[in-house]
Amino acid sequence: MKKPAEERKKVYPAKRFARGAISCPSCQYVLEHATERCPKCGFSGQVAVEKFPFPAPELSAVIDPNSYLSKEETASVVSKVQKLQKRLPQVRFLNCLVPLGNEINLREFGFWLFNAGQLKGGPQAKDFAVLFLIDPKQKGMSVTVGYGLDALVMDTEWVTICQGSRDLLFRQKFGQGIEQFLDGALNLLAERALTLKKELKK
Ligand SMILES: [Zn+2]
Repeated sequence: MKKPAEERKKVYPAKRFARGAISCPSCQYVLEHATERCPKCGFSGQVAVEKFPFPAPELSAVIDPNSYLSKEETASVVSKVQKLQKRLPQVRFLNCLVPLGNEINLREFGFWLFNAGQLKGGPQAKDFAVLFLIDPKQKGMSVTVGYGLDALVMDTEWVTICQGSRDLLFRQKFGQGIEQFLDGALNLLAERALTLKKELKK
């Protein structure tokens, strides 16, 4: 049964569905416009909250509750993120390593974490945020981006960037894998930022 809108809002603000994806995080159906619920499989923010009914961690440059990264690796990723944010001040780079296992859809989990986790700077800071999620257990990756980046970068482009980290991930070089991803993301976003500026000048 559908819960009243008020109640749903408390748990999971409306509109958020569109923030994490232009394709459904669950079935990857391509959405033509912002929607609260996937017209194909019924996935929604509320469904995500029900699937993952625990408090989300705070979002930051490195979220690594099981310490897959050494102190040095964490410091290196954080320093890289800080450098990237100097070049692209609007963009927030968030990287999460968490063992989930094959039964969890990483795109769904990434979507939930992106929306449920707190980010310094408030919800608006998420508009240009990139969440790179690694599951060392199922050796999988997913990328969830904010609404401002959805328009700039296609899903398939994120998949290509992830593929660059696949080898490192399989060799358990997680720190290097994240840095490889960040390099790819920077290249693409720097190029898009230029395109966007040109478009705006026309
Ligand atoms: Zn769907």
